[in-house]
Amino acid sequence: MKLIRFGASGQEQPGVELANGSRIDTSAFGEDYNERFFENNGLDRLEKWLETNQSSCPSISNDIRLGPPIARPSKIVCVGLNYAKHASESGMAVPGQPVLFFKASSSIIGPNDDVMLPMGSQKSDWEVELAVVIGKKTSHVLEEEAMEYVAGYMLHNDVSEREFQLEMEGQWVKGKSCDTFAPIGPYMVTKTEISDPHNLNLWLELNGEKIQNSSTSDFIFDIPQVVSYISRFMTLLPGDIISTGTPSGVGLGFDPPKYLKAGDIMELGIEGLGISRQKVVPFHKNA
Ligand code: ZN
Repeated sequence: MKLIRFGASGQEQPGVELANGSRIDTSAFGEDYNERFFENNGLDRLEKWLETNQSSCPSISNDIRLGPPIARPSKIVCVGLNYAKHASESGMAVPGQPVLFFKASSSIIGPNDDVMLPMGSQKSDWEVELAVVIGKKTSHVLEEEAMEYVAGYMLHNDVSEREFQLEMEGQWVKGKSCDTFAPIGPYMVTKTEISDPHNLNLWLELNGEKIQNSSTSDFIFDIPQVVSYISRFMTLLPGDIISTGTPSGVGLGFDPPKYLKAGDIMELGIEGLGISRQKVVPFHKNA
């Protein structure tokens, strides 16, 4: 099943994208795709509900805006330097344990929304990533059992401001959490539809030029290792997002480095998880 959310920003309604690519409105099911939905076995209940109700769900035009496929989670936990070539292009050693950092959940936007350069940004950068969605609450989960706590997968662009992240003092979080820095979707694909999440091609094009192109088979730490490791330090809640790191080809790794400017177009995709596209726009103050 592919979960989508559609409509104006902040007023998204739940829906499903069918195997033939058409989209239907499932708001009659009565639940948004949030912590409570996942916690109460929403995926199974929705699937069952669709067996009898799918034909009466209104269809959605494909030109209606897609929002983030799940409601804002309690947290986004990111894994840094999880591909060896990316660690080396960043001038950092291959880590012995997963490198973890947070990304503010207020940075989440829809898959095709504009990415806004932060105020004063000179070094905004792109990162195509596989994001894992947690389906059940867990802490201290064993690697062997970790996949039972995964609900599904999404495409994520972990947009990053390198000056804020690496040149200012303190933690990476400042360069990761700016508004619009987490385009996710187009949809969340349920776990059972992806036969091997550790063998998916992922890529990103900047203005039509493919500059990231790798496979999740190159992970240093795989999904069970990462979920288990994170759960030693914090409770993972249903709907939480874990972003598994980016392969090489980010702007920081170019010589000289290459960063986003207004008007740029990022297009990215992961096999089985769809494609997203963001235009870069200058800073402007919202609300
Ligand atoms: Zn990242």
